[in-house]
Amino acid sequence: MLDLSKYTKELSEHFFSSGNILLISHINPDGDTIGSQLALYHFLKSKGKDVDMVTPNNLQEFLKWMDGADQIKVFIHDREVCKRLVEKADFIIMLDFNQPDRLGEMESLVTGSKAMKIVIDHHLDPRGFTDFEITDPAFCSTTELVHEIVTEINSGTLKSRPYSEAIYIGIITDTGNFSHGNYSSRTFRIVADLLETGIEKEKIINLIYNNFSAQRLRLQGFALNKRMVVIPEFQSAYIYLTKNDLVVYNHVKGDTEGFVNMPLSIKGIIFSAFFIEKESFIKISFRSKGSFPVNEFAAEFFSGGGHLNASGGEYRDTLENTISYFLKVLKENFGRFNGNV
Ligand code: 5GP
Ligand code: MN
Repeated sequence: MLDLSKYTKELSEHFFSSGNILLISHINPDGDTIGSQLALYHFLKSKGKDVDMVTPNNLQEFLKWMDGADQIKVFIHDREVCKRLVEKADFIIMLDFNQPDRLGEMESLVTGSKAMKIVIDHHLDPRGFTDFEITDPAFCSTTELVHEIVTEINSGTLKSRPYSEAIYIGIITDTGNFSHGNYSSRTFRIVADLLETGIEKEKIINLIYNNFSAQRLRLQGFALNKRMVVIPEFQSAYIYLTKNDLVVYNHVKGDTEGFVNMPLSIKGIIFSAFFIEKESFIKISFRSKGSFPVNEFAAEFFSGGGHLNASGGEYRDTLENTISYFLKVLKENFGRFNGNV
């Protein structure tokens, strides 16, 4: 169990002695990395600190309404501004990732900075590329950990609606709205605290989960009907989408969020993969039920990582070859990963 008080003392000294603090979220930013970034932003601003926020690439559409999201600079669109922010920072906090390649095209810029750098995260296997890390996979989301840290430094729950919403959004998105089983009794105690700060939970659920286009729902139907393959002998299933499929259904960033979970609702399926064709590579998401370690599967075969039951990676080949390779490694390794060998 993480001894938070040990870290929070050191962290709060850095918070209050630093002139400029830069908060960085990971590539393809999700609700947890953005929630962590915005929650710390609102907390540090409330203490009068000079804080900036940078992310490697675009936010998912369903997160753009969040309070403060318009202040996050996107590296691929604003390279010069982001470069200046990295150079100006004397304390850099990276949120919800523990491997430098999750910085995308910002990697060398950030790792080369002279600023004090830390990671706050809940993934397995931290790479230790910063000055220190506050990380524990027992937290369902990085925002849950951020909340514990902020509450300790603040000597009580910070009463701020934008802060609470950001923490709450990280929790609901990383737990699949309390369905993945990675949450604990602590999570509900935190959520109880957050609800008392006046967050509008129904509004948030509608903005996160009920805010898509009709075409997105049709894409979901198409993916299940025409692009899902079930492999009962390996208790696995996968879905793939081509670049053209995404064009036909007017895809916007975030539209395919959650698709990878769908095959796990099939009786007997414990491992699911989702392949999406990008400009020059294939992005893959993995999910599992039980003890099948998809973080290890992603790391071993797809240059990726993540959590025991949720991970991702990539492969630089055609969609067809990527799926053939996936089927080959699945066949050869399913038993080992499933604990049968
Ligand atoms: P998602 O499938 O939602 O994109 O990602 C699920 C989990 O896997 C997240 O915790 C994310 O941090 C991790 N993940 C996704 N893609 C990658 C990747 O390319 N590399 C690593 N190391 N982790 C990834
Ligand atoms: Mn997370």
